[in-house]
Amino acid sequence: MKNWENNIRKVKPYIPGEQPKDKGIIKLNTNENPYPPADGVVKALKDYNSDNLRLYPDPSSEELVNALAERYSVKPSQIFVGVGSDDVISMAFMAFFNSSKPIIFPDITYSFYDVWAEVYNINYEVKPLDENFRINTDDYICDNGGIIFPNPNAPTGVYESLDKIEEIVKGNPDVIVMIDEAYIDFGGESCIPLLNKYDNLLVIQTFSKSRSLAGARIGFAIGNEKLIKYLNDVKFSVNSYTMNSLTQKIGVEAVKDENYFSETVNRIISTRENAKSKLKELGFVFPDSKSNFIFASHPNKSAREIFDELKKRKIFVRYWDKHRIDNYLRITIGTDKEMEKLFEALECILSK
Ligand code: PMP
Repeated sequence: MKNWENNIRKVKPYIPGEQPKDKGIIKLNTNENPYPPADGVVKALKDYNSDNLRLYPDPSSEELVNALAERYSVKPSQIFVGVGSDDVISMAFMAFFNSSKPIIFPDITYSFYDVWAEVYNINYEVKPLDENFRINTDDYICDNGGIIFPNPNAPTGVYESLDKIEEIVKGNPDVIVMIDEAYIDFGGESCIPLLNKYDNLLVIQTFSKSRSLAGARIGFAIGNEKLIKYLNDVKFSVNSYTMNSLTQKIGVEAVKDENYFSETVNRIISTRENAKSKLKELGFVFPDSKSNFIFASHPNKSAREIFDELKKRKIFVRYWDKHRIDNYLRITIGTDKEMEKLFEALECILSK
């Protein structure tokens, strides 16, 4: 190792799901939405005046913040937007997790949390989910430096009730509790209403799943005005112009089209419910999912083998070779047609 390497921050980075270049792949590996963005988004893209690119974008993304404030019935000063919820959560770790006490999150969870904790030198402790992948509330009522978990959980898809979330937020008045609601629109009840009662809660959502805009990178957080002010102070100390002007415009259009939003979300929910029956018929077991994916395991064939066999057939799902979950596949809900192809392939793989 060279001397200059001694003082370098060394991190083990997060590994995102594969984005294959080949055509004709059934891509059920990164929880993207199988439907296109709303018409208004497509029109805004066409109408975008490229002369705007000469100018810096609005650093506070005011139009998008206002559209979100209206949609979620909160004040604009309660909204923070970022370049995907990854950016929002990363900023929030920097802003809110500054205690020497460990922050806590589940052992099976979004695999970016420990990466951010490492890169920002934040102490952390993981709390094992129970055998049904449920959170044990008591694990979170303790001395800690902050809390984060996804609801519904990723990669399990398990949804915890608002009562449980409230118990955890209420039991931790001295730290910030972040609920990552990346998948909440697929059947869960958001904890946004709890913001009226608790000032230590931050709710984070994304346009990547339910609004078909993973490629545009839009995420947001809702919290009390003071929290959002602290979050903006950190953002404006790192990079004022995080979100480009084109993205701000299409984000507004995506929020405005409530009909298209509910139509596509409901279509995905219905495909998911059908997928649950089909997977059960094929012998898979899985916790009930309220997200746009199913976390499934088969008693007769290893997840690794199924994963490899599916890949040979150009069907991509997600697999982690990790303690407790190394016999599970996370299958994103695609279109009905894509799911039919998946079931056919699974039938063939399982009959061998
Ligand atoms: N939270 C969870 C639980 C996720 O699964 C994802 C998707 N990888 C994200 C946050 C980040 O999504 P995005 O940055 O696209 O908003």
